[in-house]
Amino acid sequence: MKYLFDNLPEIKAQIEKAGGAALLFDFDGVLSAIAPTPEDAIITDEYAGLLKKCAAKMPVAIITGRRMYDIKKKIDTKSVLYLAGHGLEWEEDGKDHVKEIPKETMEAIRLAEEKVKPLLERYPGMILENKSFTIAVHYRLMKPELAPVFIEEVESILRPFAKDHKLRLDHSIKTFELRPEVGWDKGDSVLFATEHFQERTGKNSAPIYIGDSQTDEDAFAALEKSGITIRINSSENENIKSAAKWYMKNQKEVGQFMKWLLAF
Ligand SMILES: [Mg+2]
Repeated sequence: MKYLFDNLPEIKAQIEKAGGAALLFDFDGVLSAIAPTPEDAIITDEYAGLLKKCAAKMPVAIITGRRMYDIKKKIDTKSVLYLAGHGLEWEEDGKDHVKEIPKETMEAIRLAEEKVKPLLERYPGMILENKSFTIAVHYRLMKPELAPVFIEEVESILRPFAKDHKLRLDHSIKTFELRPEVGWDKGDSVLFATEHFQERTGKNSAPIYIGDSQTDEDAFAALEKSGITIRINSSENENIKSAAKWYMKNQKEVGQFMKWLLAF
């Protein structure tokens, strides 16, 4: 990965060559700063304002693992395309669409939640989040000395379970996430958004995707040829391997980049 802000002329040339840009954002850690708990994550007034200004100038999508109702509590604007639950739900102009998930997959997710629930008693600081068709296990608030044992235990429970039940387990930024392997991930989501924008505007554009964690890697890989892929590389993931071409140093640089896009 190369540092984005050292290479802005190259980015500008790519956008101009494509005939414009479409902006695709992950939410947590990108539009919002990483917070101690998922409920605490907020988008600042400044970022919400910048987002709306960008949406008036170019197509904008928010692509998140959160459920639709949840992301709409954080930011609700008609001017962006929402792809929630890793693309299992999408909404535009107030119309909501949901992809169907097999009953046995939903049952397996529920069972997985039962399996990790007992850990709550032994590991203070663990947060178990049920997003109905995915579960997330967070350990950001856990004492650091507990974390290695905790990670090992969660892996030993969920890794084989995921394999047996066609589920997918991601582990990144102090969170495990278990979700259906239904052929939809952030890679499919960004391709869907790009095509959708093309149909709607009748114009080509260079998709720009900004993400900060493992689940964003599918999006970076999907846009490897056509897109401008940016990963936020915070100090806690030093030397991370990524399919993204560019990196930012922190979430504050997202605002700086939006301002740069608005200025040209
Ligand atoms: Mg994120």
